[in-house]
Amino acid sequence: MELRPIGIMHTPYKTAGDAPFQGRSSSETCEIEIFKEYEDGLKDIDQCSHLILLYWLDRADDCVLQTRTPFDTDVHGVFATRSPNRPNPIGFHVTELIERKENVLRIKGVDALDKTPLIDIKPYSTGIDVIGDANIGWFKKATEGDQMDGNSYRKNIEELIRKGDLKRLLEKTGELHGHFCSHSAYGVKAGYIAMRELGITNTGMEEIVAIVETNNCFSDGIQMVTGCTFGNNSLIYRDYGKTAVTVAKRDGKAIRIALNPDYEESSAENHPEANALFEKIVVRREKPTPEESARMMQLFKEAALEVLDVDADEVFRIERKTITIPEYAPIFASVRCSICGENVMETRVRIRANKLVCIPCAGDEHYAMCGDGIYVER
Ligand SMILES: [Zn+2]
Ligand SMILES: [Zn+2]
Repeated sequence: MELRPIGIMHTPYKTAGDAPFQGRSSSETCEIEIFKEYEDGLKDIDQCSHLILLYWLDRADDCVLQTRTPFDTDVHGVFATRSPNRPNPIGFHVTELIERKENVLRIKGVDALDKTPLIDIKPYSTGIDVIGDANIGWFKKATEGDQMDGNSYRKNIEELIRKGDLKRLLEKTGELHGHFCSHSAYGVKAGYIAMRELGITNTGMEEIVAIVETNNCFSDGIQMVTGCTFGNNSLIYRDYGKTAVTVAKRDGKAIRIALNPDYEESSAENHPEANALFEKIVVRREKPTPEESARMMQLFKEAALEVLDVDADEVFRIERKTITIPEYAPIFASVRCSICGENVMETRVRIRANKLVCIPCAGDEHYAMCGDGIYVER
């Protein structure tokens, strides 16, 4: 068996330490030079958006059968990894073809070292090559973590924040919020800006607090992206009726992000059809046709996606400041109500005829929150 190199790869990586673990994570542009005698084989290659490149990793160690990868500490058989060190050190990479200029292909991101011999090119196709549910067990475990283990619950969200993947963050918010809309997208965007600015990971143990000034769709985007929620005591609600949030670290370093009224108005003017449907279906509660409902949701989704792409300074007014944030939420003892027998946080107990009773049994007025905001319920 004899392999003939068909070309040579020009990449920025001189040593193994320079090259990325996965070419997919590199955005460097590289050039693949095909030897003149093989140039006829490139006919129609410019019709291929993506290519599978096979190359000979000439500086690899070809005696290795088991190896560790950068992703975990376990030893794996080389054939269960993409380690460059293997009996036949063939490198494999799916890449985007940027352009062909005669015998040179400009491609995006590859993990090969400079001057690596190229042995073959094949076109890549989603129709032929994608198997949606394929996965590598050990790799999935190493990179996604066990969702029920330790502090990895928000790992995927933190990863999306790190990558700046606002679209996936909006989709995650949709799982909580139930629909796509521009205000939840404002929340996603504001939450993202705050998390990037404060540079902190949140495990839901009050490392940060978010102070929202509205209880509309916006606050669900904030809860999903920042991880500050009603239930983990790091979401503070100020009933100001403003689409705004302040996210603060425990040292008081804070950022307040408020929807720019000019942007809000121009956005309303730019979506007349969505607004007319919203007025009819949501504001006036008139019964819509199924087509009208579907159309409104579609327009909402388009408007939400649009928000993600607009310049942050256009959408928001952003202010950095230092604030005093509340102490960690105190833990109170429970007391049993002498009338209904249910347990009540001790700070909520009332005394009636020398007996400890809960608020509903006492018939006392109390705060409640509804779509309208906070009110005193009697
Ligand atoms: Zn909404
Ligand atoms: Zn009671």
